[in-house]
Amino acid sequence: MRVKTACLKHFLNGLVDEIAARGDWGEVADYIPELAKVDPAQFGVSVSLADGTQISAGASAERFSIQSISKVFTLACVLGRNGEQIWTRVGREPSGTRFDSILLLEQEKGRPRNPFINAGALVTTDALLAHRAPKDALSEVLAFLRAAAEDDDIHIDPAVAESEARTGFRNVALANYLKSYDNLHNPPELTLGTYFHQCAIEMTVEQLARAGRVIAQLPDAPQILSPEKARRLNALMMTCGHYDGSGDFAFRVGLPGKSGVGGGILVIAPGRASIAVWSPGLNLYGNSLMGTYAAERIARFTGWSVFG
Ligand code: GLU
Repeated sequence: MRVKTACLKHFLNGLVDEIAARGDWGEVADYIPELAKVDPAQFGVSVSLADGTQISAGASAERFSIQSISKVFTLACVLGRNGEQIWTRVGREPSGTRFDSILLLEQEKGRPRNPFINAGALVTTDALLAHRAPKDALSEVLAFLRAAAEDDDIHIDPAVAESEARTGFRNVALANYLKSYDNLHNPPELTLGTYFHQCAIEMTVEQLARAGRVIAQLPDAPQILSPEKARRLNALMMTCGHYDGSGDFAFRVGLPGKSGVGGGILVIAPGRASIAVWSPGLNLYGNSLMGTYAAERIARFTGWSVFG
């Protein structure tokens, strides 16, 4: 369905007002102290359309911690670097468990269910790190994001990375567990440090929506991701992008999406649009409460769905 730019702008402005009036923001992630400081009462949205226009509303120029949304771009880099090899170390099935769960890892002998839960993302980051320094692996992810967004002003917030390094005990446990099964090739502290910094990349929804154009394969997107890889990232975002809330997101929104505990969600309408929403308060699954609501309302307004 083609959406008129002016109508969408009007709709998004109304959505900002509606969300502010609801005043139901959810809880910010408090296990990372730097994220606990963020005011939950914020909402921003940006949509990059197939005709090259970008429409934004609310706190669209505010930088936030993209956290797990980075996992999509790290995976894109690893697929570009090592091709399909990564699938010998990590699966492609929804986990049905919390993002930081250790449960399945023991049952499935150290092979994480998918690259978007923390255990799987640690393996992907470990693969990106192979035979080089953390700063080079991180530079590759940043370079990919900057090229995708056509914006060099995308950086890591060191305070968030340090904050998570101080309190990320579950991730330390997951990394050590993976190492005990020989599914981490670097020293755990090296992979963890790289992972914490990758999660601490900060962006605005405007930058994120522009970066998502490569996954949506929009006509004006830089040619840095093959259509085949984009299809695969979309499939994983749809089935695994919201942890144990992935089925609910697919049901309500009908589009692939990836969330982060910073409150951002990247939503892809393949061939039509790349949508980024941000609201720092989370729901029970650790996904943005108002971000999910907004994605649902936008999908309904535009008629965009991968299910026809
Ligand atoms: N850095 C976060 C963690 O590892 C990412 C989780 C998320 O965004 O869902 O706990």
